[in-house]
Amino acid sequence: MRAVSADEATSSWDLGMVPRPFRVRKNRRELNDVVTLELEPESGEPMAFEPGQFTMLYLHGIGEIPISISGDPSHEGVLVQTIRSVGAVSEGFCNLSEGDMVGVRGPFGRPWPVEKTDGKNLLIMAGGLGLAPVRPAVYWALQNMDRIKKLNILYGARTPDDALFPSQLLGWEAVDDVKVLLTVDRPVDDWYGRVGVVTDLIADLDIDPQETIAMVCGPDVMMNFTIQSLRAWGLDGENVYVSLERNMKCAIGWCGHCQMGPHIICHDGPVFSAPEVAELMSVWEL
Ligand SMILES: Cc1cc2nc3c(=O)[nH]c(=O)nc-3n(C[C@H](O)[C@H](O)[C@H](O)COP(=O)(O)OP(=O)(O)OC[C@H]3O[C@@H](n4cnc5c(N)ncnc54)[C@H](O)[C@@H]3O)c2cc1C
Repeated sequence: MRAVSADEATSSWDLGMVPRPFRVRKNRRELNDVVTLELEPESGEPMAFEPGQFTMLYLHGIGEIPISISGDPSHEGVLVQTIRSVGAVSEGFCNLSEGDMVGVRGPFGRPWPVEKTDGKNLLIMAGGLGLAPVRPAVYWALQNMDRIKKLNILYGARTPDDALFPSQLLGWEAVDDVKVLLTVDRPVDDWYGRVGVVTDLIADLDIDPQETIAMVCGPDVMMNFTIQSLRAWGLDGENVYVSLERNMKCAIGWCGHCQMGPHIICHDGPVFSAPEVAELMSVWEL
């Protein structure tokens, strides 16, 4: 953790510790336990962000949680966040109604390195809710197809009904030079698609691994296996990026709650290259 001067310590207003009021414009149910909130600033500037960044969402009287931004970075006027209800605070956000007020700090964190994809293929690999934090990079790529070669999206869900943003996945698949492959762990009766883990889909790629940048997001175990599989496929680890989730409180690198080895995830991440974190990620429950 870095040392903080007395001047710095008293200027928390400037450092992003004070939430801004945002109003819920829409609450769209995606899955049984997942919603997407559209939030608008009550006053002042819209919130500009880069793909891969997150905010701290504060619900008065309940608490504050880190949530990735899942919207389009070119639409600054509305902040879009996709939230799974797993405990008191996330449940509170999932139950919000149009017009309710929340507090927002941010945006925070190191973004996906979209500029590295110039002249290369972009490979997005996501598992479950992990599609939400990479969706801004997909929006970015779709608006910059002249800068990249091909966009490939490999997505794994538990069941077909657990797939996030299903109509968008279909829409993206229809775009030239975009390939979307979906697999599920457990099929249902009318499922004729792929069954298996997301890493199985790598065999279906028809792009050169030497010319590819991968962005990976999902549960740690999925990201670990994906890093290994991408390396076996021929992708240099330096070109594989992951987004990590750890227990965060301050989001500005002060409190140390999200420390993992030498990294303060909120400040140095949440996006890391595979060599930066692969060894630490393989340590159970670190
Ligand atoms: C950078 C970052 C980005 C995130 N982006 C999103 C997002 O886009 N959408 C989203 O729904 N969630 C996201 N999370 C996770 C989210 O912050 C937690 O689910 C939330 O803090 C849980 O708070 P709670 O009070 O509702 O539940 P708690 O009572 O704190 O926890 C309930 C249960 O969830 C588990 N849990 C808590 N935090 C996490 C976590 N980070 N990962 C896995 N399990 C956890 C706990 O161990 C416990 O079992 C992100 C986390 C980080 C650090």
